[in-house]
Order: sequence, then structure tokens, then C-alpha cells
Amino acid sequence: MDRTPYQLPFGRDRVPAWRCPVCEIGHLTLDQKALLVRETTPSRKDRKHPDWEPDWIRYVFACTFVCSNASCKEPIACSGYGAVDIVEYEDDDHGWIQAGEDRFTPQYFSPSLILMDIPGKCPATARIHFEESFALFFADPGAALNSARAGLEAVLTHLGIKRFIVSKGKRRPLSLHQRILMLPPKFSSLADLLLAAKWLGNAGSHDGTSPTQADVRVMYDLLEHVLSEIYEGKTKKLKAIAKKVIRKKGPVK
Ligand SMILES: [Zn+2]
Repeated sequence: MDRTPYQLPFGRDRVPAWRCPVCEIGHLTLDQKALLVRETTPSRKDRKHPDWEPDWIRYVFACTFVCSNASCKEPIACSGYGAVDIVEYEDDDHGWIQAGEDRFTPQYFSPSLILMDIPGKCPATARIHFEESFALFFADPGAALNSARAGLEAVLTHLGIKRFIVSKGKRRPLSLHQRILMLPPKFSSLADLLLAAKWLGNAGSHDGTSPTQADVRVMYDLLEHVLSEIYEGKTKKLKAIAKKVIRKKGPVK
């Protein structure tokens, strides 16, 4: 899916094309009457500073979006931070004019938005972790990576990859890395993508540079492809069609 709209803030008159998580058809529209904006205390104190400019303003907000699909109209609650963008535009009478435009960056949606296509055949044991990852995506990218990694572990368990080995009479857990290498040959082409997902997932669990939303988007790109290959077999289906076309040396009836 196209995740570009989920990188953008929204404005009072402009909401990116965020898909309704309930019907998955409509888009979110802002209920103007349900937008509550308050300037933060540090931001109000900053106004006394001699160099103060309007783009120093910081808000917190809460709002409700409504699905544009007439047969859905689901309300979706949202909260987060706001700031002011200074925009310049040319006016016929007054020349160049500067104006402040509020922009709002969500931290939480309830229900959470869907940020990755999950095939219908994906088991609920994995889906629950992916949905948890979507809920954390905006507020805590590291935790979102962690949940996505847990979803990947659940996919491997669903594929029958064992979680433990018995060594010297003791049961020891297998690492995600070891489990990926145990995938059957029909999935071996996915190993590199899964190992990359593992490294991103590790970045969510360990100290060091804080992961960003961009890292989580890469994780979703990798998982989306892997899930589609495992549960929908797109490449396998295409290869079967290609084989038939080659054999016929032309269109297949
Ligand atoms: Zn809807």
C-alpha cells in the first residue's frame, strides 16, 4: 500500500488521504467542531522572549475524524502535537504576505489506522502484533518495530518453524535469525528480506540510535511483501501463468 499520506501532518482545511480503518474504503475527514487545540505552557512563556516569532508556537490537540464513506461514517479519535507553519503568498493589493498556518502531527488514533496490507490468510496470532504495531507507529517507532518483529515470530511459528531446541537435556529458545534460516526451501528466496526485517526489529529492542517512522515504513514494506508471498503466493501464481504462456508461445485460453 502507499504509505506516503501517513508521513504528512494535517491542517484545519487539509487532511492527507488517510484510509478509514473500519470500512477500508472511505477516507478520514476532519470534524471541524471536534478539533480542540491548546497552546502548551512553555510555548505561552516563550511569547515573552524578545525574538519571539509565530513559528515558535506549540500546541496539543484532540480531534475526531469521520469516515467519508456514507455507509460507514465511523468516528476516529486522534490526539497529538501542533505547530505553526509560516507561509508566504502574493496578494494583488498588498504584495507578498506572511501568514501562520496550523499543522497537526498525530500521536495516537483510536481505532488505529491500517498501515500495511495483511492477507486474509495471515493467522490471528500474527495479525494481533501487526495491529499493535500500527497503534504505536506515530508515538513510538521503536515499540512499533518491536511489535512487528513479534508478528514475524508468530508467522514463523504458524509455518511450523520450531521455537526451541533441546541441547544437553535443556530446552533453549532459538533466535529469530536461526528460525529464519530453518524456513523450507520454497521460502528461501524470502530469507534476505526476513533477515533485514529481523535487524530492524532488533533496532526497536536495543539501546542506541532511536528508530524513526521511516525505519518502521521499511519494516512494513518488507513484511508486506513477505506476507503476500507466504499467504497469497503472488510470484508462484505469476510463474505458473508465465510457464503456460511460454509453452504455448502465445496467449493462454
Ligand atoms: Zn469507513
